[in-house]
Formats: sequence, structure tokens, C-alpha cells
Amino acid sequence: LVILGIETSCDDTAAAVVRSSGEILSQVVSSQADLLARYGGVAPKMAEEAHAQVIDRVVQEALDKANVKELDLSAVAVTIGPGLSLCLRVGVQKARKIAGTFNLPIVGIHHMEAHALVARLIERELQFPFMVLLISGGHNLLILACNLGQYLQLGTTIDDAIGEAYDKTAKWLGLDLRRSGGPAIEELAREGDPESVKFAVPMKQHKDCNFSFAGLKTQVRLAIESKNINAEIPISSASSEDRSSRANIAASFQRVAVLHLEERCERAIGWALEIEPSIKYFVVSGGVASNQYVRARLNQVVKKNGLELVCPPPSLCTDNGVMVAWTGIEHFRVGRFDPPPPADEAEDTILDLRPRWPLGEEYEKGKSEAR
Ligand code: ATP
Ligand code: FE
Repeated sequence: LVILGIETSCDDTAAAVVRSSGEILSQVVSSQADLLARYGGVAPKMAEEAHAQVIDRVVQEALDKANVKELDLSAVAVTIGPGLSLCLRVGVQKARKIAGTFNLPIVGIHHMEAHALVARLIERELQFPFMVLLISGGHNLLILACNLGQYLQLGTTIDDAIGEAYDKTAKWLGLDLRRSGGPAIEELAREGDPESVKFAVPMKQHKDCNFSFAGLKTQVRLAIESKNINAEIPISSASSEDRSSRANIAASFQRVAVLHLEERCERAIGWALEIEPSIKYFVVSGGVASNQYVRARLNQVVKKNGLELVCPPPSLCTDNGVMVAWTGIEHFRVGRFDPPPPADEAEDTILDLRPRWPLGEEYEKGKSEAR
């Protein structure tokens, strides 16, 4: 099998061609980070236009680099949710156009399932059941992956996701956002003292596996105010004293945010092993999982609790087309796909988009609701 994967759920336009053997034939990502830095966040209409501008080029480049023609493909996989519907639509329309023209089946993909399952491309020994922590811009999920399409949610955030907290902290600290806030905080934190600002670890008193980052964000904002840090002054122009207090806040924020992850993961492993004692692996994926500090700390917790960590390389943790193509392969293999759409499909065809789509909710059930 050879599958083309298309991803446009948020601010990256991505496509990739992957073989069922796990061979990645190509991977192309076009980021809107520049645009986001200029306007300070994702505006759906703007993001949609940016996707529409590059989608043809991104897909063509993925096919060319893979040295594959549309007719060589077994199917087209495309993210149908969760995400911004205006953005999802761009990818889905493109996928349907190719599938309609070349008579190819379509596999509709859940973005968070794709973040999780790409770990099975990386680690071929990774069999169900296994545990997953998904940490990204919009999600903070602890999952027991029981089988393909069957996911038990052990914990989620009650407010923001950790990636959101990284992004806001970066913005308030006046960091260069041209490549998203997470990497900027990770880098600055290396200069700082992680013990210098005493932030409280969230939800200590809640003995569950849920997350909360809104309170930590507030603590960070107050610390920034108390140090008179002015986000209008970019870090590159800050005095050395100012720079070191920004670095201390970044390091202290990161330490506590990740401590919160560690505590929840440890409890979740206990829960999961009671349900499924055969679990061997713990997957960490999503954009924040590309952070070296996060990876190292979670590796310790996972090991201490007798499991093995699987964390995809950074380029497969942030949004990418490979994870979509690979998840397409997983579903296609078990016969879960849609027949080719009509070649002369009208512009106003109702698309299968699932902007809100809890992970684990049956794909078929979701589809009938969307229609
Ligand atoms: P979701 O997957 O929830 O729909 P998304 O697709 O926008 O959200 P991803 O691309 O999966 O998010 O991840 C982006 C997030 O990861 C951003 O919040 C970004 O700051 C964060 N991130 C990326 N690299 C790092 C890093 N090195 N350290 C911390 N956070 C990071
Ligand atoms: Fe994502």
C-alpha cells in the first residue's frame, strides 16, 4: 500500500506519502508561523486562505519527492477533525478532488489519533494495548489505546492545554514567535534557574488524571508583572538583568508545567495497569513532545513505573502529513475507508468534517451525525 496523507486542521499545511512497510517516501510541511507571529494568533479565515494558497504546491511536492503519481496511490487519507472547520475543508476538498479524479478511496482521519498512532510507525513492536499522553496546542489527553479506533480517556484538561500555556508564556515574555512559543521557551529556559520562581503545581488536591494550566498561566502572568517585564521590548533588546529574569520565569514555568504532567502520568500508569496488566509501552506525542526537557523527564517517570517510552522524532510530534498517511494505512488495512467520490463533484457538496470529535467516539457514528 502507498497512501498520501493531507493535514490542514490548524496552522500547518502538510502532506506526505507513506508505504505500509513504514517507509516514509516524502514529507512536506508549510508553516504559517510567520503569519501567526505578525497577527498574534490563529484567525480562522486567515488560516484558511493561507492553506488554500499552498495546498496544491504542498501536495504536488509530496508526490514529486516520493516519485509517485496519483495512479500509484492506494488511497488518500485526510484529517477531517478535530480542528477549525474552515481549515479542515481546504484539505478535505483537495483530497476529494484527487480521489475523485483518480478513482481512489478516501480515509477520514482523527487528528489526535494520528498524533498517537504515528508511534507505531516509529516502533514496530508497539502493539495494543498501550498508553498515550498527547500534549499539543489544543489537547492534553491521557489515553489507554485498547485497539485501533478504541480509546479510553483517563484524563483531559479542564481548561487549557500545555502547548497553549507555552505559547502564552512566550508571548508575555516577549520572545520571537516566528517558530511558535514552545521552542522559544525551551531554549530560553536553558539559561534560567528552574527553582527561582515558586509556582504551585496544579491540581495537587485532585487525585485524578486530569490537567489544568489556566492557574499556572495566571501565576506566570503575575510573576511577569511583578518583575516589570515589558513584552513590547523583544528579548533580543532586553538588558542582561531583564533577560535573566525572563529566563528564570521560563525555566520555572517549564519545570512546574512538566511536573504536573509527570504526576498525572504516574497515576495514569497505575490506573491503566490495573485495567490492562499487559501494557509495555507509553507513547508521548503532539507538538510539546518535541521538547527535550519534556522527553527526558517523562522518560524517567515511565521507566520508573516499568514501561518503555516511545516518543516520535520532533518532526513527527508536531503537525505533519506522515501521521495522517500512516493512520490512513492502519484504517485502510482493516477496511475502514470511503469509496471514491464522484469525479464531477459539485463545489457545494456536503463534506464529512468533524470539527469537534472526541477521540474514541466511533467513526461511523460520528459520520452519520455530520451528515
Ligand atoms: P492539536 O494537535 O491539539 O490540534 P496543534 O495541532 O495546533 O494542536 P501541534 O502542532 O500538535 O498543535 O503542537 C503545537 C504546539 O506544540 C504549540 O503549542 C507549540 O508551542 C508546542 N510546541 C512545539 N514545539 C515545542 C517545544 N519544543 N517545547 C514546547 N512546546 C512545543
Ligand atoms: Fe496537532
